[in-house]
Amino acid sequence: MTTKKVFESMDGNQAAAYTSYAFTEVAGIYPITPSSPMPEFVDQWAANGMKNLFGMPVKVVEMQSEAGAAGTVHGSLVAGALTTTYTASQGLLLKVPNMYKIAGELLPGVMHVAARSIAAHALSIFGDHQDIYAARMTGWCMLASGSVQEVMDLGGVAHLAAIKTSLPFLHFFDGFRTSHEVNKIEVMDYSVYERLLDKEAVKAFRKRALNSANPKTMGTAQNDDVYFQAKEVQEKYYLPVADVVNDYMKEISKVTGRDYAPFTYYGDPLAEKVIIAMGSVTDTIREVVDNLNLMDNKVGLLSVHLYRPFSEKYFFQAMPKTVKAIAVLDRTKEPGAGGEPLYLDVKSLYYGQENQPKIVGGRYGLSSKDTTPNQILAVFKNIDGEFKDHFTIGIVDDVLNSSLDATENIDTLDKATTELLFFGLGSDGTVGAVKNISKIIGDYTDLYGQAYASYDSKKSGGVTRMHLRFGKNPIRSTYLVNNPHFVSCSQESYLTRFDLIRGIRKGGTFLLSTTRDIKDIEEFLPNEVKKILAKQQAKLYIIHAYELAKEIGEVKLVSTIMQSAFFKLNPQIMSFETAQEAMKSFAKKSFLRKGEDIVKMNYEAVDRGGDALEEVTVKPEWVNLEVKNEVDETRPDFVKNIADVVNSIKGYDLPVSAFLGIEDGQIPNGTTMYEKRGVAEEVSTWISENCIQCNQCAFACPHACIRPILATEEEVNNAPVESTWVDARGKGLEGLKYRIQISVLDCTGCMVCVNTCPAKTKALHMTPLTENVDRQEHVLADYLYNEVPAKDGLLDKNTYKNAVFAQPYFEFSGACAGCGETPYVRFLTQLFGKRMVVANATGCSSIYGASFPAAPYTVDKDGRGPAWANSLFEDNAEYGFGMRIAHKTIRDRMQNIIINENGAFKGELKDLLNEWVEVREDGDKTLELAGKIIPLLEKETSQAAIDLF
Ligand code: SF4
Repeated sequence: MTTKKVFESMDGNQAAAYTSYAFTEVAGIYPITPSSPMPEFVDQWAANGMKNLFGMPVKVVEMQSEAGAAGTVHGSLVAGALTTTYTASQGLLLKVPNMYKIAGELLPGVMHVAARSIAAHALSIFGDHQDIYAARMTGWCMLASGSVQEVMDLGGVAHLAAIKTSLPFLHFFDGFRTSHEVNKIEVMDYSVYERLLDKEAVKAFRKRALNSANPKTMGTAQNDDVYFQAKEVQEKYYLPVADVVNDYMKEISKVTGRDYAPFTYYGDPLAEKVIIAMGSVTDTIREVVDNLNLMDNKVGLLSVHLYRPFSEKYFFQAMPKTVKAIAVLDRTKEPGAGGEPLYLDVKSLYYGQENQPKIVGGRYGLSSKDTTPNQILAVFKNIDGEFKDHFTIGIVDDVLNSSLDATENIDTLDKATTELLFFGLGSDGTVGAVKNISKIIGDYTDLYGQAYASYDSKKSGGVTRMHLRFGKNPIRSTYLVNNPHFVSCSQESYLTRFDLIRGIRKGGTFLLSTTRDIKDIEEFLPNEVKKILAKQQAKLYIIHAYELAKEIGEVKLVSTIMQSAFFKLNPQIMSFETAQEAMKSFAKKSFLRKGEDIVKMNYEAVDRGGDALEEVTVKPEWVNLEVKNEVDETRPDFVKNIADVVNSIKGYDLPVSAFLGIEDGQIPNGTTMYEKRGVAEEVSTWISENCIQCNQCAFACPHACIRPILATEEEVNNAPVESTWVDARGKGLEGLKYRIQISVLDCTGCMVCVNTCPAKTKALHMTPLTENVDRQEHVLADYLYNEVPAKDGLLDKNTYKNAVFAQPYFEFSGACAGCGETPYVRFLTQLFGKRMVVANATGCSSIYGASFPAAPYTVDKDGRGPAWANSLFEDNAEYGFGMRIAHKTIRDRMQNIIINENGAFKGELKDLLNEWVEVREDGDKTLELAGKIIPLLEKETSQAAIDLF
């Protein structure tokens, strides 16, 4: 039977959700990045009445945790409903206990996993295989997909094979790289699944269901007499799995024309050097294999699709007999192991064989670390001579020297492919706009498209890079765009913060949204940018997207304007008129439910965006400009050597040795004050004559940017910048000056302060950031926040107004603009920051609370401040309880020493220690005593004094 081929642009999550929907009666779910969109799609389709293969919408049940979802899946399967779940990372680990049960009871559940790093020295939402490897012993069969198309093609095989073999299947693909990559793919027709589904097996599964018409007892306890034998007897279910999977893959191959098997080989049939890998890296390896074989090398790739059970038969069926050297790539790190899992699996297959090839193993791509063709070339070179084992690629390991040198360049990009890079502000619509561009190209042309977003760790307002490729052939490049033909940037402040056009190709184009007039652009552009433009003979266009968006009536339209400008500059993709029509159709689809007015504004942005471009002449003499790389040596070492590097998107290049001294994952407090991101186009500005000195603006500010300052005449006179002050109002504040100060380079422009201000005529309004910077507001803020002591305590201590005069120990976090949580966190630190310990659950508050290298919890001039730590999503109460118990135990020990060894202490120290014992439950008093006790204790040499520390 032939079905019409349907192509659509979608990401890996949507592809997995689509295939799973067909076979799913019940979905037991709990969201976790990056797998959350899968159940969201299923939920949305079910709400719209979409039918599965059994003629019903999927019943979606969201539980209270991943463990809860696993329990639901287990129960639903036992009771006879075909059940699916979706997860990643620690979410998968929380499902492990039930996964053993489900496999042990031979239940055909399916789990789709957007594979992700495990939180260890730090949490990471990005992709690798640590999570799926941690589930490899549960008895679930495991299938790997390496691209969005493979997710579509093989996702169904997981369900079909689970039903036929009566075993659970885990289908995984790389978190973010595949789960969030939008690619134009061929969509599977559900009639194929209908044809392939083993209906007898479905019937048999339903017949086994636990119910009172078919009573039985499951989940018994067994003793040492029988448990072992009962475990062994299940092996017969695993023996046919590889054949069943292979049969289904052959059927899928017939339908799609793409060749699938438990292991697939790509490359020279007589290859001597082969890389073995699974997941998205396989596409990059294919590019390199093609390139090397064109130059008469004999190399190849063995892709693993069926990882468990690991089939010897199909492995050797696929692997060329000529192979002499193998490099196995594992996307994980197993500390202390003799090798990573896939490497050990491969070695065990060859164990004892004559003429076995040399086999080495290496690690790559942890936490979505980009794996480039250069690195793959280095792997092939390694098995051509050096044979370094347990190697790494993608990092410079200058501590244990595990890394391979990947500096040799190889350009594997299909010549018919164009690469584009878009820089935007997190949540400013750049991601959506570029996904739209990709979908428009996919839907309106015959071109294939690929779109991938890379983010920094800010909740919003961080830098987002969208990597877009399109071309005549399917796109296989599963790595970031490093040599773009076109670069677009919607934030002019990025010009000085990032190497926006590093790598731009000869004759490329740079589009910049700016507030500057065209005549001022030459002076405004950094020399480095001008030099690269001239050297690469690139074109430069500017657009006043922000002003235009404001004129139309909605600042969020910046991304639509940039989208329109992009199509205007790239008529080779499609005519601008066709693009306008397409953009309007997308806008209508997305915004109609928000009202006609919003749709019309989008139309206007589409129409005017293309016409608002201005070309800036790139002068050839710019190539001779001098570029200085100045490092501010006054910044703390961590900030200078690590934070600044990471914040300028150069953390990828930090060597392993940079992390010596912070091996446990800790970072110093108070690093966000050095960021000065300048992400707001407009910031709040104080109007002194309207102010009633209520401090409510500062109380409401989510980022501790706006602060009420009390200063003496002398402090005012010492200020580096002239500014407006008024007499402070209120009993106890006599003789002091008052001012509301805004840290304009930290302000996110959320307007919460402006909206909160209760003055009859608002005492705050928004003005362009550039004006404020020209007025040196940031210099003044720096002085007032850091050099002028906070004057809380002059008013009634227990009033919010007094507390807001206190130093915030939580400032300039990466929380979203207008965040409703952070004002409370900041306020808490103003009340208790000096002696605060935080056991933070995982979630928003941990991401804005500590995303490497940003630490918004800060310290005062005495070095005191909140101590902060995070364990997991679900255990912060227990984690905090542990801290509490430890603190009490340590204090009990101190008290014990003071009482039992009292004779060892003399004079003032003895009196102070005895006083400490009496007041040990009073935080303020012990803090005061600590200031006196510690200097005295430091001078003591007795064992009792040493033990007290
Ligand atoms: Fe002044 Fe308005 Fe702030 Fe109150 S909220 S202190 S009136 S600027």
